[in-house]
Parts: sequence; structure tokens; C-alpha cells
Amino acid sequence: MLSSIANCLCGAVKITAGEINPKFTVCHCDTCRGWGGAPFFAVQCGPNVKIEGSDNVKIYPSSDWASRGFCTECGTHLFFKFKKSGDYNMPVGIFENLRDIEMDVQYFSDRRPDYYCFSNKTKELSKAEIIAYFENAL
Ligand SMILES: [Zn+2]
Ligand SMILES: [Zn+2]
Repeated sequence: MLSSIANCLCGAVKITAGEINPKFTVCHCDTCRGWGGAPFFAVQCGPNVKIEGSDNVKIYPSSDWASRGFCTECGTHLFFKFKKSGDYNMPVGIFENLRDIEMDVQYFSDRRPDYYCFSNKTKELSKAEIIAYFENAL
């Protein structure tokens, strides 16, 4: 597991993630693409995350099971957080010096529009497969 520091664009929020899974995920779901204008490249950080400048973090409940946080000053997307486990998924690009990470799985692969695709060799999970998984896990 890697440990790393993330910053929003304006510097009002600094996040230290104690454990980062080097196998990152990509989500093609409508909510992620609507949120960021593109698929969400996310690293799993577990619940052990320290947020400095949390007065500048707005948390939006994006579904029954998770919320999304962003900087109120510059709009940088900071995290997707599962309500039940408290686990954070954070955008790959906000971390400094993340090395030796690998695209591992693409979520909602059947929701990916035709106008892009990645050449990375990854696992893929469709919407139906994800719903079946979470019915057991949550
Ligand atoms: Zn900011
Ligand atoms: Zn998504």
C-alpha cells in the first residue's frame, strides 16, 4: 500500500491518504461522467483519510449509498465516499507523485459511450454485474 498527499487546485484542501490501492479503477457510469465530464479515474483509499481545510469541502449525497466531496473555492473533485463503510475513492489526478499504479478494472463498462475507449487491458464489470455484487456486499 502507498501513502500519499493530495491537494485541490487552489490549495484550500489538503488530503493525506494513509493507504492507497495501486490498482486503480475507472467508472463510466452516468453519474461519474456527469460529475466530471469524463469517466472517473479513482484510487481506493480506505477509511483512513485525513482532510485539512474541511471547511472548504462541500459534500453532496449523490446516491443512497455514497456521497461526493469537492472544494468550494476551486471546484476540484476530492472524493467519492461510501456511507456504510466510510471508504474513500479519490481521483487519481489530485495526488502528487503517484507512481507504479495500474488501471485494474472498469466499472459500468456497458454505460461507456461509443466516443471513447481505452487500450489498457483491464477487467470490466457491467451495470448488472455491479448491482448483483453490491446486493451481496452492502
Ligand atoms: Zn480548492
Ligand atoms: Zn460511477
